[in-house]
Amino acid sequence: YTGVSKDAAEEVRAELFGEGHAGGLVADSITAWFGERKVLDRVSLDMKAGEVTALIGPSGCGKSTFLRILNRMHEMIPTASLAGEVRLDGADIYGPTERITAARRNIGMIFQKPNPFPAMSIYDNVVAGLKLSGVRATRDQKDVLVEDSLKKAAIWDEVKDRLDQPGGGLSGGQQQRLCIARSLAVSPRVLLMDEPCSALDPTSTRRVEETIESLRGQVTIVIVTHNMQQAHRVSDTTAFFLASLGTPGVIVEHGDTQAMFDRPLDPRTHDYVNGVF
Ligand code: ADP
Ligand code: MG
Repeated sequence: YTGVSKDAAEEVRAELFGEGHAGGLVADSITAWFGERKVLDRVSLDMKAGEVTALIGPSGCGKSTFLRILNRMHEMIPTASLAGEVRLDGADIYGPTERITAARRNIGMIFQKPNPFPAMSIYDNVVAGLKLSGVRATRDQKDVLVEDSLKKAAIWDEVKDRLDQPGGGLSGGQQQRLCIARSLAVSPRVLLMDEPCSALDPTSTRRVEETIESLRGQVTIVIVTHNMQQAHRVSDTTAFFLASLGTPGVIVEHGDTQAMFDRPLDPRTHDYVNGVF
């Protein structure tokens, strides 16, 4: 069933998920705790629809915690609590009538360590999110989604002849792109990526960056990276997180990526992007 056109794929996505579009995501005064310990303090960030936002900053300043709050994974940690609001296209994802599964479908997450279901076939990995989202698709619809999602994740050519083989048999870089395809299969409005290339070879890193580039405008992307060149290459805006001397993490500065690298407003941003700490 190869050769699915882009239009045919968009039609199937519209049937299953309604009109797809990039979502505007707003974090409004997010404070986060683990037990008594405050790890983020009133963090606000406007992630505009269709743009790529890079999150940078030293280890331990709360970037991963912030991402988990953006798709309701933080609340799965027993000691974790939070204050503030996250709005997707204006609606509070923590609102009383909002469901976790809706947040998860609309806001996908990619981790540093690829986590496909290793024993499951490549095909089944890609469509694994449908059931969790409560979406019933026919075999034909799934075929289209699998091909389109693997193409979007820049891995189709490498796996099209072995879709029935286990996801765990792929290389690390391929597994990561399989995970991206799995996220894209449910037509998310936002994709959160937590150091997605830190464990990848240069070729897979380039493919992931190509994927980010090709999703621009269609999916809102938030990417945590320790690679300043990568932030520079892929993002429209960059937010610099910092937690100094045991204080909770805050955003020191957020703005146009190019401007922030050329003329940071805060001396701490200057030092960080220039590798001083
Ligand atoms: P980053 O991603 O920027 O490295 P994290 O969000 O992982 O930072 O961590 C922020 C702070 O929260 C760190 O001090 C870390 O030790 C703490 N932390 C992270 N996860 C947990 C957890 N599950 N339980 C307790 N503390 C945690
Ligand atoms: Mg982290």
